[in-house]
Amino acid sequence: AQDTMLYLDGVSVAFDGFKAINNLSIIVRPTEMLAIIGPNGAGKTTMMDIITGKTRPDTGDVMFDGRTDLTRLDEAAIANLGIGRKFQKPTVFESHTVWDNLEMALRKPRGIFAALFYTPSDDDIAQITGILETVRLLHRKDELAANLSHGQKQWLEIGMLLAQDPKLLLVDEPVAGMTDSETGETAKLLREIAQTRSVVVVEHDMSFVRELGSRVICLAEGAVLAEGSLDQVSANPVVIERYLGR
Ligand code: ADP
Repeated sequence: AQDTMLYLDGVSVAFDGFKAINNLSIIVRPTEMLAIIGPNGAGKTTMMDIITGKTRPDTGDVMFDGRTDLTRLDEAAIANLGIGRKFQKPTVFESHTVWDNLEMALRKPRGIFAALFYTPSDDDIAQITGILETVRLLHRKDELAANLSHGQKQWLEIGMLLAQDPKLLLVDEPVAGMTDSETGETAKLLREIAQTRSVVVVEHDMSFVRELGSRVICLAEGAVLAEGSLDQVSANPVVIERYLGR
């Protein structure tokens, strides 16, 4: 449907008989931010692996953008459809400038010869400038990525994913290791990104989830334990007992 970007329906996957994901159903709307919380081992990473094609579910459907069944596709094909994934650790090209990192991310495959003589078009320059504004790094565009703070490296990698123009951005614990002000800024920039794309954030830091202000799903034992605003989820007695009350 038009109001659904991603739809997991009755998804299960077992590792050696242990059900890491157990009849999980989730909907992500277009231009919605969704925070996924839950205790260690709840299945958050496995869920992301299923969406990106790294893990194939045993049963269930994963539908993207209305009609594409992701369970039939490999990781590269899924990425090309417009699903970007940000892992916890930043991976940027440290010995290149911030700007060049974005140029490399923007560059479409066009053969080694063309790549060697690549010069960005006016469109490319405008796009890179816009992305660097979004991720708060325009003033550091000529800096080597190695010289950025940990938080800025995370933003640069988010920028590199934006260069691929994803419809759905999956982000794994983006603020781990960030300063308080970087954490606040990250919440703001993810909210800005979610104005035009769907964003799913897996997160342990509840004060950050509060700053995101998004819908929250609490996973436990591979299924949805509770869903709603953070206040609703954290007032859920089962969540209090099983998770927040630890
Ligand atoms: P979370 O990200 O919420 O901490 P995971 O998705 O990493 O949870 O793990 C869910 C459960 O599945 C855990 O019990 C974990 O040990 C198990 N698991 C995950 N991946 C594998 C795997 N490749 N082989 C065996 N067990 C796995």
